[in-house]
Amino acid sequence: MEVPFLDLRDVHARYADELKAAAARVIDSGHYVLGEELAAFEREFATWCGVRHALGVGSGLDALALILRGYLGLGALAEGDEVIVPGNTFIASFLAVSANRLVPVPVEPDPVSFNLDPACVAAAIGPRTRAIMAVHLYGQLADMPALVALARRHGLLLIEDAAQAHGATRDGRKAGAFGDAAAFSFYPAKNLGALGDGGAVVTGDARLAERVAALRNYGSDTKYHHLFQGVNSRLDEIQAALLRVKLRHLDEDVALRRRVARRYRDGIRQPQIALPDVAHEEQHAWHLFVVRCHRRDALQRHLQAQGVQSQVHYPVPPHRQPAYAELREAWLPLTERLHEEVLSLPLGPSLGEDAVARVIAACNAFECPP
Ligand SMILES: *Cc1c(COP(=O)(O)O)cnc(C)c1O
Repeated sequence: MEVPFLDLRDVHARYADELKAAAARVIDSGHYVLGEELAAFEREFATWCGVRHALGVGSGLDALALILRGYLGLGALAEGDEVIVPGNTFIASFLAVSANRLVPVPVEPDPVSFNLDPACVAAAIGPRTRAIMAVHLYGQLADMPALVALARRHGLLLIEDAAQAHGATRDGRKAGAFGDAAAFSFYPAKNLGALGDGGAVVTGDARLAERVAALRNYGSDTKYHHLFQGVNSRLDEIQAALLRVKLRHLDEDVALRRRVARRYRDGIRQPQIALPDVAHEEQHAWHLFVVRCHRRDALQRHLQAQGVQSQVHYPVPPHRQPAYAELREAWLPLTERLHEEVLSLPLGPSLGEDAVARVIAACNAFECPP
């Protein structure tokens, strides 16, 4: 038996009865879009995040794009403005920016946390800069106190891409509660995953919340009255009902993820495998457990031969993708090295003790080629 990277059947088996009851409740209700389940989930998720407003949308990418679109409509952003983004992120962070005719400006990460380096952000601020998009990569909060101060000093919007960070905390505040607005993804593999696609915008800004609520629904405030040229991007009732179940288990699931991470950090003792250097383990939501190895591909092959699955997040940075030919000349050597060295080990709330022990033993048995 292989150790799977993440087995969503196992994740859901733990509360399958609750999930099935929630789905049945929606099926029997006759209401499938923009109903009571969504309204209830939005209240519950906003409360859980410690933020005033939450709006369910179709995906994490849509959540990011709708935040920017909302601020364009409110006049806080204008076409051609620059948004500073981490060079080392999932491409969705870039796509949301360029889809709104804004310009992504990638910067190098902090070499320890792999998150935005406030000094690199400060150096990238120019006359067209209007926003910073902080990505809480792998489940660890970016340096939000420094970024909040920087955004304030330069009059910039601060947007959180919290797609990997449900449950990350600092000083008693959760991911999503630091910026002007934050985007969450409920893609099935995320810390809070739907059984399909979904996402949410959270914000303390009532004007943005109102705008996004309309934008996701054809730009309409009441039926057949259209204030804006909106889109159709709604979190449907079945997904909202399933997410309400999973939200009740989320704190426990994040704690289980932390336990696996703790065991890896205690158990993996192969000097060629660099463990994540995390100052505050209990603040990390551990979406991914990412090690670095200068012979990453050999390590991945070795683990596979030992029956341990792993993944690379991500093999090619956005500025090196064909989709972003205009950024091909960007000078981001640290970002590029990270993409060659990172490897994500199996991690999830249902990963058993034996599986964890097998991953540790397989890592420790790695004989790194010169
Ligand atoms: C998953 C992810 C997204 C996109 O979310 P989707 O729901 O898949 O659209 C955006 N940013 C980051 C950092 C992600 O990991």
